[in-house]
Amino acid sequence: MASASAALQRRGWRLPPSTYAAVSSLKDALDRLASGGTPAGFSTDAARPSINWVFLGPPGVGKGTYASRVAKAFRVPHIATGDLIRAEIKSGSSLGAQMKSIVNQGKLLPCDMVQQVLQERLARGRQQGERGFILDGYPRTGAQAEQLLTSTDIGLVLNLSLREEVLVQKCMGRRLCRHCGKNYNVADIHLAASADGRPEIVMPPLSPPPECAPHLETRADDQEEVIRHRLEVYKQESKPVEGAFRKAGLVVDFELTAGIPETLPKLMLLLESYVGRHAYDRA
Ligand code: AMP
Repeated sequence: MASASAALQRRGWRLPPSTYAAVSSLKDALDRLASGGTPAGFSTDAARPSINWVFLGPPGVGKGTYASRVAKAFRVPHIATGDLIRAEIKSGSSLGAQMKSIVNQGKLLPCDMVQQVLQERLARGRQQGERGFILDGYPRTGAQAEQLLTSTDIGLVLNLSLREEVLVQKCMGRRLCRHCGKNYNVADIHLAASADGRPEIVMPPLSPPPECAPHLETRADDQEEVIRHRLEVYKQESKPVEGAFRKAGLVVDFELTAGIPETLPKLMLLLESYVGRHAYDRA
């Protein structure tokens, strides 16, 4: 802390002590992330609190990306029900065969099917000493949210949002390299602050390296009309889910205004402060 404050003071900045502290903790968080470290207060596994978190957000917001980065930093698994379901289908089990026909129609699976694969995954994790999870893609209905709230001690629900016009541009800019399977985004977004007070948004493209450039493809469902339809469906579906979690006082809203390099440290700070407060509340 002293070094960050000293550096600012050397440059002639005169700021309140609380601002120096905020700058220092942001710098610490960035340093820890840059060195592949873990968040504050996590010196031993035994000292780590359980993290049972849910990430919510519309298609194109980058929920999976943030969930996997945050999960890695907090040393818990990122569990996406879509991945569990695809693995079950691939396994050739009879449950997988039943799932396949429903998933291929673009419909949601019945709750008991999703519950089965999710509960098995969580039980396996507990046996292996996992201390929590970050859920992505679950819950998707009010009933699933209620079920989760009664069966699990959920600590936090992170509700990621992004202005709709940016979501559409981002989805349309998505590119997948057929060769190596990596995802890129060619959209170069710069949106001024809106009259109703929404902040400016700057998201540079995530350009492919030259070796991927000839192999890029666009997902068939990343067409403007389809994207807008998916967003409408999400709005309807997410209402009861968000409602159940808001009623339980668990929702933390986080509006994205920039790309991953700027956003991730801010998000980590927010989540670290939550973990610190939660540990303090329970002490
Ligand atoms: P995703 O990869 O999250 O888009 O999920 C792929 C498919 O798996 C979805 O289109 C649904 O058919 C199914 N699925 C994933 N999560 C759930 C869920 N929580 N409830 C019902 N169906 C789900």
